[in-house]
Amino acid sequence: MKDCFVLQNVKLVNGSSVDIKVENKKIQNVVPAGTGNGGKAIDFKHKVIVSSGWIDMHVHAFPEFNPYGDEVDEIGYKTGVTTIVDAGSTGADRLPDLVNSCKKSKTNVFAFLNISRIGLKRIDELTDLSWLDEDALKGAIAEHKDFIIGLKARISKSVVGPNGVEPLKMARKFSKDTELPLMVHIGSGPPDINDVLDLLEKKDIITHYLNGKANNLFDEAGKPLPKLLDAIKRGVHLDVGHGNASFSFQTAEQAKEYGIHFDTISTDIYRKNRLHGPVYSMASVLSKFLYLGYPLKEVIDAVTVKAADWLNKPALGRISVGDLANLTLFSIEDEVTQLMDSEGEERTAEQNIVVKGVVINGEYIEC
Ligand code: ZN
Ligand code: ZN
Repeated sequence: MKDCFVLQNVKLVNGSSVDIKVENKKIQNVVPAGTGNGGKAIDFKHKVIVSSGWIDMHVHAFPEFNPYGDEVDEIGYKTGVTTIVDAGSTGADRLPDLVNSCKKSKTNVFAFLNISRIGLKRIDELTDLSWLDEDALKGAIAEHKDFIIGLKARISKSVVGPNGVEPLKMARKFSKDTELPLMVHIGSGPPDINDVLDLLEKKDIITHYLNGKANNLFDEAGKPLPKLLDAIKRGVHLDVGHGNASFSFQTAEQAKEYGIHFDTISTDIYRKNRLHGPVYSMASVLSKFLYLGYPLKEVIDAVTVKAADWLNKPALGRISVGDLANLTLFSIEDEVTQLMDSEGEERTAEQNIVVKGVVINGEYIEC
């Protein structure tokens, strides 16, 4: 009996009210509200929405690194995110340490491996091409096959120094040799964004796609670059990666106007922007997309179905009977909230997403 509980009177994103029974850590059934029974009852009184557990595709989860580091559970289940994907905090040198620190956490973790063996030990990790060591990279992947879901390349001026797109060309070769897709961070040039776009292929991810910098994906009138449209047609995936410097309301508004929607919404969260903003949490970032006028379903799909499908782990993105229970419980509060982007611009929102609890690998935890 002790391993059984029922989440009563919760709403699905489509609006229907259900009871969800979790037994032996798995979803036992999803039935109309008021008809679930057995085990401990937790009543949400029709005020709380449930989705499959949120997935954040871009975080920095290696606590030893500064500034881009944090504790796994602080950016994970405690904020309603049951699965995080570390975005290349570590390269081959420190990957085993990242794996070990994740083992001590409740939150589910996967990682992109930085193409630079030093990872974010320094924040100019692609200035010395000898750090792009393919043998070390392949060795790390061989040892942690289930953990590594892609390669990370940060292709902007301060990271690549004088090397332009050369690190991205090398990343392309590593990707081909390892059959792992790339997540590419974009930002200030050089290299020119058009040269970056030319090198991206189906399944690759552009993170920071709504950044407001001069070298971004939109022209001065806010229109998407032709090469961006080509990349989307090829199957390149667009990810938010909010971060300290990479989400602009103005860019986001223009992108929406031109129909350039996100595939996944991620935070690029780490200690500083969690504690001091402008990121704070996944709920805060999702609230910004509700403010922009995206429907709730599209916003939640971006951290559930879409992310899980990209990871080739579709069960992680759906509430399905028989699966290990990973769920996020949240409400939409009618309260006036000031939201700030990475440029210091503010918007006043009327609604705010608030996390109430999670079920993580079968365990219910109130947030
Ligand atoms: Zn970045
Ligand atoms: Zn990042």
